[in-house]
Amino acid sequence: MKDAWDDRKKAIENEYFHRQEQKLIDQMKRNAEDSLVKNHCHNHCPKCGETIEPMTFREVPLDRCRGCGGVWLGPNDLKILAEKDHRSWFDLWFRQEEKDLTDEEF
Ligand SMILES: [Zn+2]
Repeated sequence: MKDAWDDRKKAIENEYFHRQEQKLIDQMKRNAEDSLVKNHCHNHCPKCGETIEPMTFREVPLDRCRGCGGVWLGPNDLKILAEKDHRSWFDLWFRQEEKDLTDEEF
């Protein structure tokens, strides 16, 4: 009778440790996936995959893709830019973009 009880206790213990290990393994898998995604996406354009590089426009630091020219703004950057020049900053930005594109073509 005692042996059967000991076996049961051991089985419960094994089950407990199996679950704990499974939790740790799942967590490690998630961490590995997260770091893989982070390593592949960090400083890369989500649109074309090219590296992005920091630039400054009107004293606001932005990130620009070397491939497609996409620009990434931080959470407050658009607001800061809009407040700096509410009439023409957008216009200036696009005029500069057009100039850059024309320079690259010739
Ligand atoms: Zn891009």
